[in-house]
Amino acid sequence: MPWVREDLCTGCTLCLKSCPVDGAIVMQGGKAHINNSLCTRCGDCFSACPVNAIRPNSENSSLRAGGGGYGIGRGAGIGRGRGLGRGMGGGRRGGR
Ligand code: SF4
Ligand code: SF4
Repeated sequence: MPWVREDLCTGCTLCLKSCPVDGAIVMQGGKAHINNSLCTRCGDCFSACPVNAIRPNSENSSLRAGGGGYGIGRGAGIGRGRGLGRGMGGGRRGGR
């Protein structure tokens, strides 16, 4: 799935013109946005962008393997464990 790096996108609309699917790319606030429910992942927009602002999802920093992804996974696990323990204990004490 492609995603647009908004910090690189110049709003030139070349990707929108290259996209064979009507509405898969829309301009919002002067930046290109990809409509995931319409995009067929044909890849045309990748080569159309003159500034390489369209990247594969594997390059999305919030999903990227390594520091970010690993940290998010760990945090969620610890948070859930603590929350469940506290919540159950508190509920019992409060009820009786
Ligand atoms: S991958 Fe293809 S269908 Fe999807 S936004 Fe790019 S050009 Fe459009
Ligand atoms: S082709 Fe690239 S720079 Fe131009 S609007 Fe699309 S994503 Fe932005």
